[in-house]
Amino acid sequence: MDDHADFDIEEFDIDDVDDTPTVSCTVCDREWDLDFELDELHAGNQAFEQFALDHQRHAGHFPDGVTPWVADCRHCPGGEEFLSERPARRWARTHARHTRHRVALRHENVGDEGGDAEEDAAELAELIDPNEE
Ligand SMILES: [Zn+2]
Ligand SMILES: [Zn+2]
Repeated sequence: MDDHADFDIEEFDIDDVDDTPTVSCTVCDREWDLDFELDELHAGNQAFEQFALDHQRHAGHFPDGVTPWVADCRHCPGGEEFLSERPARRWARTHARHTRHRVALRHENVGDEGGDAEEDAAELAELIDPNEE
């Protein structure tokens, strides 16, 4: 009565598993599933976050679906990108504190639709001013 031994493992195609979370990146033109983050790093619910941080660290940009917080110093070139407000704010405040630079803090709210996203983001930028401490 052990008919289930006939189970064909080859039918178990990963593409058929809908609940494997995937991440895509239009910059890299690639897509990943989060098996590595889930299995190797035991990241659980943070798997996507972990992937996004790693992708930023190694590829230099965030994957699709991430709207980073950007701390943009008015004096230093480039900007630091963060997944959430708290570390971005901390970076901005510490940078302003140590360098007396003004840092613009904003949430990159680049939506898939609507043309005003950039304008809104610019309006929402918050200036961290070292002189106000
Ligand atoms: Zn990428
Ligand atoms: Zn600076």
